This record gives sequence, structure tokens and C-alpha cells, in this order.
Amino acid sequence: MWRAFLINKLLKKRVPQDDFPFCECNWFERAAHDPDCSIEFDPELNEYNLMSPNGGSMRLYHCPFCAGRAPESLRGQMFATVTSEETIRLHNLTKELKTEAEVRKVLGEPAHEFEPGIVSESPPKDGEATVIKASKSLRYDQHSETATIDVTVGRHGNVSISFSGKYIGRPDKR
Ligand SMILES: [Zn+2]
Repeated sequence: MWRAFLINKLLKKRVPQDDFPFCECNWFERAAHDPDCSIEFDPELNEYNLMSPNGGSMRLYHCPFCAGRAPESLRGQMFATVTSEETIRLHNLTKELKTEAEVRKVLGEPAHEFEPGIVSESPPKDGEATVIKASKSLRYDQHSETATIDVTVGRHGNVSISFSGKYIGRPDKR
């Protein structure tokens, strides 16, 4: 009964479910040690992946038997922490910027420019085609020790700006 409830919940909401208990049946460990089972453990990130014959992999978030969560990933530690002070500083630096020209005037040349940088697809709906949007994006690494500034440029030159922690590498490679 509890399991049916969990599976129902899993089907309705996206994974991972942070309010689920961790897997307690040790399926992940057993599967990773079983040579006939195409589950592999990534010790650097503490993640379990389902491997496909062509070399692809899919990360597993939940145990297929008890529906418990996979062990805590170390992936979050691959990115620098951006303090709230730094977020406010970056917000004030960029809050007046509304067009690509203004961004380039204030922030200078981007460290990276992607065309298209962002491609988004609307989720498929009954009887309607998926709508795909592509945008140019600019990335600035040079304005903060810890944060990357990402600028998405719309079709009319208007911009939307976001910040994220800089990539600092896998935990065990530092
Ligand atoms: Zn389990």
C-alpha cells in the first residue's frame, strides 16, 4: 500500500523526491556489484547510473524496489557557493541592463558567446506540436570570484540575466 502510494507519487511529480527516505534495501550497492546488472557507481559524485550498451548513462534517483532515494550526490560540491552579499552585488551591477548593447557596454565582452546558447522545448500537449525556442547567450566569468553571469538575449535584443556558482571541479580532483 505504502509502495503503491510512493510509486503513484513518483509518476506524478518529477524526481528526485527530497521528502522520500533514503533506500534502505541496499539495492544500489548490490546492483553495482552484480556483473550482470548494468548499474555503475560513480565514486567521485557518489551517484548510481544505468549504463546503456552504446556507452550512455542515466542517473538513478530512486530505488526501483523500495522507491527510496539514492544516496546523496556530491554534484552540488562541483560548483562554488555564491553568498547572498555577492548575489546582491551582482544584482545591483546588472539590474539596469535591458538590452544586449547595454550589457556589452557595462560588462564588456563576454568570456563565452553561444549561438544558439539556450534551446527550450515546450512539453508536448495533446494534438499540438512541440514549440522550440532558441536564444543567443553570453557568459561572463570575469566579474565575480564565485559566480558566472549568464545573459540570455531575446529576439528583440532584450535580455534576461541569471547567476550561478562557478564550476570548480569534482570534489576528489581538487
Ligand atoms: Zn531500495
